[in-house]
Amino acid sequence: MISPVMPTYARTDVAFEHGAGCLLVDTEGREYLDFAAGVAVNALGHAHPRLVAALTEQATRLWHCSNLYRVPGQDRLAERLVARTFADTVFFTNSGAEAMECAIKMVRKFHDERGRPNRYRMICCDGAFHGRTLATIAAGGQEKLLKGFAPVVEGFDHVPFGNLNVLRQAIGDETAAILVEPVQGEGGIHAASADYLRGLRATADEFGLLLVFDEIQCGMGRTGRLFAHEWAGIAPDIMAIAKGIGGGFPVGACLASERAAIGMTAGSHGSTYGGNPLAMAVAGAVMDVIDDDAFLAHVRDMAARLEDGLGRLVSAHPAVLAEARGVGLMRGVKCAREGGGAALIEAARVSGLLLAPAGDNVARLLPPLIVGPAEIDRALAILDQVCGDLG
Ligand SMILES: *Cc1c(COP(=O)(O)O)cnc(C)c1O
Repeated sequence: MISPVMPTYARTDVAFEHGAGCLLVDTEGREYLDFAAGVAVNALGHAHPRLVAALTEQATRLWHCSNLYRVPGQDRLAERLVARTFADTVFFTNSGAEAMECAIKMVRKFHDERGRPNRYRMICCDGAFHGRTLATIAAGGQEKLLKGFAPVVEGFDHVPFGNLNVLRQAIGDETAAILVEPVQGEGGIHAASADYLRGLRATADEFGLLLVFDEIQCGMGRTGRLFAHEWAGIAPDIMAIAKGIGGGFPVGACLASERAAIGMTAGSHGSTYGGNPLAMAVAGAVMDVIDDDAFLAHVRDMAARLEDGLGRLVSAHPAVLAEARGVGLMRGVKCAREGGGAALIEAARVSGLLLAPAGDNVARLLPPLIVGPAEIDRALAILDQVCGDLG
């Protein structure tokens, strides 16, 4: 008999009752160190006092009023994102996939406005993940997410991640944009090089294409800069963000330059809940904490500690771990044996450490950005012991 909750996830049989910081407590009272962070969502950990205060304060005043009216929280957060990035304008959503949908629609509208509606195709990368809607599974291009959901939404071409020559050869008369995750998350933690990202920018300019980044997972401080592409010293025309920006409250956003957003006039796009007052209160508070030089320096310090430790684990357990990779607090360990990723994640969970799965036999470490040195050392010690047992 089908479960009342539609069985679209192979869930681990554990439920959490509450959390604080990097700790989660399950319904049996067992504590876990949370290095999955709701898959890079709980950027400030669990029950962060500033987020709790922002949400409860807003909850006593106004939850929702619709986008028929001005929402002051949207004005404030949009102004802040505009001040801090390449963007001139922001559309708020409830999720990452919706932020990507906005990006895809904006790309098509841009070329349509310029009298070239035949330019609608986007070049995407193998191993990409952009969400679970019909358009975003087409953009992701992964066979296992597309299977059974034909016809596939038209207009997405795929090339190997990191190869600029092949990408340039894939550009045709109908190409409208390039869409890339600066650090692929679900695909198994693959970071684009700064050269590749700069090459994408130059190529987009050369061919009159829009450059779209999906920073839904790698943005909001996760790499030690507010956005991952800042490391390369270039900027996209459009960027989707979500996950960390809400710290656990569902919110996303699509950022764009004025030029890219040329067609996004009244009536062109919308969302009932997108940018509602509760979401804006929380996201504003998240920005207050993360958009701070000292906070981002802390992320880089913790990242260096985690990187060192993971490197040592790979050396110590070559039969279990093939490689450690990633940037900032977005890390993955690739397991040596077939199916090793799932085994490592389950063994770590039993030992009180939560990790997140990813493609390519990788276990992801995505701790809250507020993680401290003692928690990183404890996670490494648990992994050391688990790898010893598995090896
Ligand atoms: C999680 C994720 C998405 C989808 O976000 P949802 O909120 O699940 O719709 C899209 N792109 C990337 C890179 C992601 O990590």
